[in-house]
Amino acid sequence: MSRNTRHAVVLGGGLGGLSTALRLAVRGWRVTVCEQGASFGGKMNRWSAAGFEFDTGPSLITMPWVFEELFAFAGVRMQDYLETAALAPVARYVYPDGTAFPYSTSMPELLPVIRGLEGSDRGFFEFMHLGARIYALSKDTFLRRPISDPPDWKGLGALRHAPVLRGWGNYQKTVNAYFRSAELRQLYGRYPTYVGSSPYRSPATLAIIPFIEFVFGAWYIRGGLYRLVEALCGLLEARGVALRADSPVERIDTRGGRASGVLLRGGERLAADVVIMNGDTSRTAGLLGAGAAEMPVDDRSLSGLVLLVGVKRRLEGLAHHNVYFSRDYAEEFRQLFDERRVPEDPTVYVNVPSRTDPSVAPAGMETLYLMVNAPATGEAWDAGRLGAARNSMFERLRASGFPDLQGDIVVEHAVTPQTLSDRFGMPGGAIYGPHSHGWRKAFFRPANRYRGCAGLYCVGGSAHPGGGTPMVLLSAKIVEEQITRHEG
Ligand SMILES: Cc1cc2nc3c(=O)[nH]c(=O)nc-3n(C[C@H](O)[C@H](O)[C@H](O)COP(=O)(O)OP(=O)(O)OC[C@H]3O[C@@H](n4cnc5c(N)ncnc54)[C@H](O)[C@@H]3O)c2cc1C
Repeated sequence: MSRNTRHAVVLGGGLGGLSTALRLAVRGWRVTVCEQGASFGGKMNRWSAAGFEFDTGPSLITMPWVFEELFAFAGVRMQDYLETAALAPVARYVYPDGTAFPYSTSMPELLPVIRGLEGSDRGFFEFMHLGARIYALSKDTFLRRPISDPPDWKGLGALRHAPVLRGWGNYQKTVNAYFRSAELRQLYGRYPTYVGSSPYRSPATLAIIPFIEFVFGAWYIRGGLYRLVEALCGLLEARGVALRADSPVERIDTRGGRASGVLLRGGERLAADVVIMNGDTSRTAGLLGAGAAEMPVDDRSLSGLVLLVGVKRRLEGLAHHNVYFSRDYAEEFRQLFDERRVPEDPTVYVNVPSRTDPSVAPAGMETLYLMVNAPATGEAWDAGRLGAARNSMFERLRASGFPDLQGDIVVEHAVTPQTLSDRFGMPGGAIYGPHSHGWRKAFFRPANRYRGCAGLYCVGGSAHPGGGTPMVLLSAKIVEEQITRHEG
């Protein structure tokens, strides 16, 4: 590995920025990370109060080897820094009519559930086969290579042939073709929300998501997922990377069509040989001084409302992940994407990490993270809007038999779409940058090597290959490989 003293400035200390910084430091670059906020981690962040520890963003990771690969690249073993655990079951699903079951990645546990709902397990195996084929075609191409490289059309073309004929169709229609029960149609319909999209508008290629979760599992990090950010910051400091919090970048400087540094709020200038943009890719043109048009609302992925709630008793019936489905899923997404409002009857995700990790709550208490999808409109989230959304959330939970928390809440804190927008610069609080509606949008995300300015790269969930923590780490790997190739 060649050592050089060239300087890389990373604009943003989210997971994408931190992992790119670590990879470049290993490659011998001098690296500075400028984060506008007071803490690192971006959307992967935390909030603590009265002895309760909350993750405020991601609550589940998958593809654990992608995380291990990053630590191994830095010459250490992830197991020496983090204690990870696969969750069993992955989630407990609850329906408005009272049907409830655990969703497991163990075949002997899951198949009786599937057969009980469907009368057969054939649709399940065929749907997983579709996901497996898409995964096999993308794992060494789409997920590992920059999109500016010639895509492997031969491989992608194979998708057009049976038995993955349905790979190019509509996601929910495809799910409906494999499953007949309303319960599994809704359950598998949920996965496009992992990339902030509607099952009714996404391509069936997103069947890769339930496949990945089923075969690689849903993982948790003891002490909370924020431990990952802390571990990365420790590794960065040990390698001499300058981690600068409270350092918003106002402008990316250029000279002769090349990124030459950044201008921080307050007037300080940092010269750089390469600049890596970890903020939302749609903000890059504005930082280069070319008008600051917002990403159109129509293009944005979903945002979310998260309520962090500490309660002073145990909630025995709950699993680590629980999903309380709405009565009418199609109507829920119509209200989210057509009417652009929080659904009247939302599906509520309830994450209770203290069920499996008592270290995140005081003894005998629980740490709850309640989340509903919300549109990324950019409207202000005042007390009225928050109160109304909170009521619909708790109304769905009450109607589904969720324990009454009245009088048991010790602390409560809301993370709204406005918080995500104000704190991290996501247009309207869109969590995953542009949505994945239509296969072009799903496959052709903003490139990692910025077109029109040499020496400028984009990393993170709003860039290729997409959102979600493992994809962000793959994005960082692609960026580091491009920088090594083009700037070495
Ligand atoms: C509520 C919620 C739940 C989620 N659940 C999951 C989950 O269960 N599993 C999963 O895998 N993923 C989940 N995600 C998605 C995951 O958090 C993201 O995909 C990932 O963390 C994005 O990382 P990033 O580095 O791309 O962006 P970010 O985390 O947004 O980081 C970008 C950073 O850049 C900084 N920045 C922006 N502009 C500037 C500027 N001008 N100057 C300086 N700094 C700047 C921002 O402050 C921010 O810190 C969830 C996200 C949210 C919000």
